[in-house]
Amino acid sequence: MKYTIDQFGYYGEFGGAWIPEMMYANISELLTRYLEIMESPGFSQEFDSLLKDYVGRPSPLYYASRLSERYGSHLYLKREDLNHTGSHKLNNTIGQILLAQRLGKTRIIAETGAGQHGLATATVCALKGLQCVVYMGATDIARQEPNVRKMRMLGAEVVPVNSGNKTLKDATNEAMRDWINHPEDTHYIIGSVVGPHPYPDMVARFQSVISAEIRKQLLEKTGSELPTRLIACVGGGSNAAGTFYHFLEEEQVELIGVEAAGRGVDSGETAATLAVGSPGVLHAARTMLMQNSDGQITEPYSISAGLDYPGIGPLHAHLFKTGRAKYLNATDRETLEAAHLLTRLEGIIPALESAHALAALDKIPMKPDEVNVVCLSGRGDKDMAAYLEYFGY
Ligand SMILES: *Cc1c(COP(=O)(O)O)cnc(C)c1O
Repeated sequence: MKYTIDQFGYYGEFGGAWIPEMMYANISELLTRYLEIMESPGFSQEFDSLLKDYVGRPSPLYYASRLSERYGSHLYLKREDLNHTGSHKLNNTIGQILLAQRLGKTRIIAETGAGQHGLATATVCALKGLQCVVYMGATDIARQEPNVRKMRMLGAEVVPVNSGNKTLKDATNEAMRDWINHPEDTHYIIGSVVGPHPYPDMVARFQSVISAEIRKQLLEKTGSELPTRLIACVGGGSNAAGTFYHFLEEEQVELIGVEAAGRGVDSGETAATLAVGSPGVLHAARTMLMQNSDGQITEPYSISAGLDYPGIGPLHAHLFKTGRAKYLNATDRETLEAAHLLTRLEGIIPALESAHALAALDKIPMKPDEVNVVCLSGRGDKDMAAYLEYFGY
């Protein structure tokens, strides 16, 4: 298994658990129990049943005929936008809340930037009646009012973080500090395939339902489980990891991740980690990250708050390094145009994050008989202000 972790949580040279000693108790409990719990029959039964009746899975694999015509190749959309709460993020938070219950935890913490992961976490805490604390930078709280209100309505305590830039990185530091202080009763739900081992592996496994469904659905629709290529946007990399997961060993399937170029990879205002980054340690994992020559993290920028992260999951750093996956990027402008195109051709308003994957279609040479699957990670309701500002609808 070339693309899965070794016993220390490494994908090649990336990953691991670069944790402070104070976090050892938290991580070691999770590490010794996560696989045993996830592989127990009761667990998968409850997970599968919630994915079906609560999230609304399987999400459809939709043949986008007008988009296909436009690009001269077969295009399918994996409709994660149709999940409850509007994105793929709930697949992971459902999995982690079931795990937390089996670990005997009664209190859940999370960090959030745009609020989407905070919302998915607050949702499953309401579902299970567990206490929920969401750390969020004060700047982000001001920018993401609707999500903050939803989280509060769901019963979560949203704690403003006033250190640093008052954004995601600072909220993450605060959540880690909380976890260290409450190792007994608290589980920390991380929202992407980032952070220390075993989080990247655990989150990838929960999201792998996406590629398991794609294989089945493609077989029904095309007669083959294997597409020509898979395309997904990459922030931390969880929807892409879920989309790639069951195809990693199928070397003939092309894997394409799309990062946020922001105002351009050379503009200094970007979040395209693999285009401009270098190896280092971020949030307790060795991975690729955006840093200056002194090793200070550089502030990421993207119009899409969900892709605005200065690192990338270690799985993707490894797929990049080995060449198994290719990583493209799309600017804010290209992304907005791609969102407009999908809306007008298919009647689907995508999340800005997902529109990055669509923008990459212009940069990929495609032949008429090829089968392309794009992960449509989320819906665009939350991004209407950005669309209005650009297009003035
Ligand atoms: C959060 C988010 C992303 C980015 O996260 P990944 O871990 O890279 O998948 C992408 N799309 C949507 C809709 C999101 O909410």
